[in-house]
Amino acid sequence: MPNEKERLGLKSHPARLYSRLENEEVVCHLSPRQCRLKPGQAGFCRVRQNENGKLVTLNYGVSVQLTQEMIETEAVVHHSPGQPILSLGNIGCMLNCDFCHNWQTSQMRYVKKKDFYHYTPEQVVQTALNKGIGILSWTYNDPVVWHEFVCDTARWVGSKGF
Ligand code: SF4
Repeated sequence: MPNEKERLGLKSHPARLYSRLENEEVVCHLSPRQCRLKPGQAGFCRVRQNENGKLVTLNYGVSVQLTQEMIETEAVVHHSPGQPILSLGNIGCMLNCDFCHNWQTSQMRYVKKKDFYHYTPEQVVQTALNKGIGILSWTYNDPVVWHEFVCDTARWVGSKGF
């Protein structure tokens, strides 16, 4: 299995929600898969891996291009009708659904360098503010798999008084 970090030039970021075992193995508790990983191994999602006995995430701040859309493009009903949203979508996923509409970015083996950009939480929030958008949409894959970035961005949202 190819190393996605090297193939795509991704950076490591400390991951949350895992346990350390003997022999530098770790167990990721982020999803029900509970991947048990030896040093150098990546989980099913292929964006969380064991580096020297610590779990890291490879998809922090990695997203398809930020785009402005309308809330009606999302799977919500009667929530802020007619409002613009800022959409972000990450790479990798702990799911592997047949007929995934976003398979080229949700499934790591198909991701190419041209498919993603790098953002900071501050950039995401500032982009929304500059465009006068009051809603961020974590879409295209299961946002849980990059929750470290989602949580950090949410803190920025709170500090800016969205
Ligand atoms: S988030 Fe990834 S590494 Fe963690 S348990 Fe789920 S599939 Fe495994």
